[in-house]
Amino acid sequence: MDPNTLEKFHRHLLDRQFSMLERRKQALAAEDDMLAEPELDWEDTAALGSAAAVLDSLGESERQALVRVDAALTRIARGTYGQCAGCGDSIDPERLAAVPDTDRCGGCAPEN
Ligand SMILES: [Zn+2]
Repeated sequence: MDPNTLEKFHRHLLDRQFSMLERRKQALAAEDDMLAEPELDWEDTAALGSAAAVLDSLGESERQALVRVDAALTRIARGTYGQCAGCGDSIDPERLAAVPDTDRCGGCAPEN
């Protein structure tokens, strides 16, 4: 992959990582606000429970997304970015543009 294209993906992944970390920080701050709410009646407590569950599930999927972006950044650092972890071929740049954190070519991707 040529250095300019690689740099483009690198920046894109860093942007994504940054915005995910920001969102996560905001979600955690929102959770703190809810937990800090001093006077809760029964209904509020029930609402708090479901909101916390939503934040938990959001946290888990975001955590996995972060791990994927992190792994892609590691591959860039090692010089293996854009190389399929399944067959070793180059991943189609169009596929990378659509899914920048993938480590599988279209033929090896689990969704196929
Ligand atoms: Zn492959």
